[in-house]
Parts: sequence; structure tokens; C-alpha cells
Amino acid sequence: MSVDIKSQTHEELTKKFVQWEQPAYRVDQLLHWLYEKRVTHWEQMTNLPKALREHLAAEFALHTHELFGKQGARDTTQKFLWRLHDHALVESVLIPANPALYGEQSDRHTLCVSTQVGCAYGCKFCASGLDGWKRNLEPYEIVEQVTAIERWHDAQPEEMERIDGTRKSDRAINNLVIMGMGEPLANYDNLLKALRILNAPWGGGIGARKITISTSGLAPRIRQLADDPLQFRLAISLHGATDAVRGRIMPVNRKHPLAELTQACAYYQEKKGRMITFEYILIAGVNDGLDQVRPLAHLARRLYAKVNLIPYNKVEGLEWERPDERSQENFLGALEHQGVTATLRREKGGDIDAACGQLRLKTERALRGDGPAPRR
Ligand code: SF4
Repeated sequence: MSVDIKSQTHEELTKKFVQWEQPAYRVDQLLHWLYEKRVTHWEQMTNLPKALREHLAAEFALHTHELFGKQGARDTTQKFLWRLHDHALVESVLIPANPALYGEQSDRHTLCVSTQVGCAYGCKFCASGLDGWKRNLEPYEIVEQVTAIERWHDAQPEEMERIDGTRKSDRAINNLVIMGMGEPLANYDNLLKALRILNAPWGGGIGARKITISTSGLAPRIRQLADDPLQFRLAISLHGATDAVRGRIMPVNRKHPLAELTQACAYYQEKKGRMITFEYILIAGVNDGLDQVRPLAHLARRLYAKVNLIPYNKVEGLEWERPDERSQENFLGALEHQGVTATLRREKGGDIDAACGQLRLKTERALRGDGPAPRR
């Protein structure tokens, strides 16, 4: 199968165009069609000569994700289910106005993207890993989650304006979190290539500091990321501040226990000089006890990390529950009392299948005849 054009960097396309004896400005024209106009067919690239379009079509694929399902929460979080060329399903979540989650108060239009079909890491509270890992996403399949949303935004400006006042001339997405289905750093090369394309001025144009990569704790890859020149933000899905608690819900902790993970985070920080975020999903009776506060505060202070507390979203078929609001607030208060910068996410998306991978899981099971169709 031919490589998709949206897996190609400017440099790779330039090399190809030199081989084809095409002038350099043709590359810029092509990229303009792909990332500014976001066209879906070669024939739409009307300022490229027909022979060049045919050459491109013979050499490269130009896939688009099919919108297979969509759920919108009352608070305007939108979950998109995409069907890929091989009929695999992945999710992206658009969080139109979400101050203070991963950056400054002005952060808007955050998109959470997936990096794999399914997940091999099997965190006990997560829907994404329930049916196992299927495959890595190609760079273009990560890039296209962004361009597909931008296209959707272009096609219905009134919908975006209703959601949060975005005008047609605004970019639909200016903040990216790599936190959807899959372990991003287990698909390292494809992810980094996709992010270079999404970050480039000729591509997605999203600033590196507006891109947060989240990992369940692949320590060697965190070190590799630290050595990459791009200044992405790093978030760690921590969810437990001791090996006993973390190991109970995150099998990855057996391979990379907290001591190894924190050393890798310290290395990242030393190289980047940037604040790390700890994601901490509060699960009733598992990790919401006040005994976790002191070790969590110790880790956060040592690594100059901010803590995002996220009340658990129930996943059907799993035993875990969300703590009541008083327990959530107590945990937050105790953490702040220890001098840690922390936020408690008053959850967006609570009235949709908000947990990572849940819309996809329900849809796949309904397609197989194993369960009811998810609510749209
Ligand atoms: S939380 Fe992330 S790493 Fe863990 S199973 Fe879910 S998708 Fe995979």
C-alpha cells in the first residue's frame, strides 16, 4: 500500500519533487492544499499541473478519516469516532474551552488524539485496553485527526460558534494533548513524525509548547524525548504515588517502577527546564486515600510537577467507582496543604462515554452484536 501524503515532511516532499524535476514552490502549493485548504481529493489542487497531480496520486495515498460517530456533552465537549481505511475505529475528543488544564488560562480548542488502535498496557481502569492492542497509527492517521476536525469546523462554523464562540476565521485547534487511545511513547517514531508535521509552520502550525504528550511511564522513551530538540510538554499518567498502589492498577509499573520513572522525569526536566504534569485519576478506595497525599506531594515537589486530579469516569464492565465530591475535595485540599500546585477537574464530558476508549469499545461491541449501540 502506498504511503499517505500526510505522513511526509516538507524535506521528504522536496527531495521527491527534485527527483521529479519540479520547482520548489510546487511543494509549498501542495502543502497549502493539504493543511490550509484541507482538501480531500487530488483534483481539488487546481493550481498544480494535471500531470503532477497524476504523478502524486500514483505515488501517494490521500486518506481521510470517516466520521463514524459523534457524541456531544451538555458542557460542549465533543467526542469523535473515526473509521480508518482498514475499518479500525479510533477516538478524538475536542474540548473547546478548557482553561488551566495543560497551559495558560487562554488555552482553547484542545484536541485529545489517539496514537494506537487499542492499547497493550492494560491499565485496570481504562476502556482502551479492554480488547487489547491492534496496531500503531501511522503518522498521517494522527495528523488527520486534527485536519479532519478542522475540516468539520470549516463545514459548520455555526456549530463551533454555538459551542464556544469560535469564528470561521479562527483555527479549530490550537492545543493538542496526546492522551487518547494507546500509549503514545510505544509508537514513538510515528508519533514524533506526526508531531513534527503538526508543529511545522507549513503543516498544522500548532506550537510545540501547545502540545502535551502523556505517557503511562515508559521511562526509556521519556529519556529519548528529553533528547529531542522540540519543546513538547510532558504529562505522566501517575494514578498512584507508591509502587503498591500504582502497581495494582498499572501493570507498566512492574517494568518501570516509580524510582526509574522519577529518574527519567528528572532527566527530562534537567534537559528541558519545563514543568511536568502528573495526571492522577481518583478512584474510590484505590488511590484516593490520604495516605497517598504525602508521597504524591514528595514526588511533585521533587520534580516541580503540577498535579491534575481527575475524578474517575465509570467504564461499563469495570469494578471501579468515582469517589464522592467530598473525598475529591479532601484529597485536593490535603495536597495543596503540602504546598503542591494542583487542580481538580470538574469533569467535562461526564454525560458522554467520556472515559478514554469507551465510545470506540461500545461501538465495536455493538457492531459485533455484543452490546447496545452507544448514545449519539
Ligand atoms: S490509560 Fe493509556 S496506557 Fe493505560 S491502558 Fe489506557 S490507553 Fe493504554
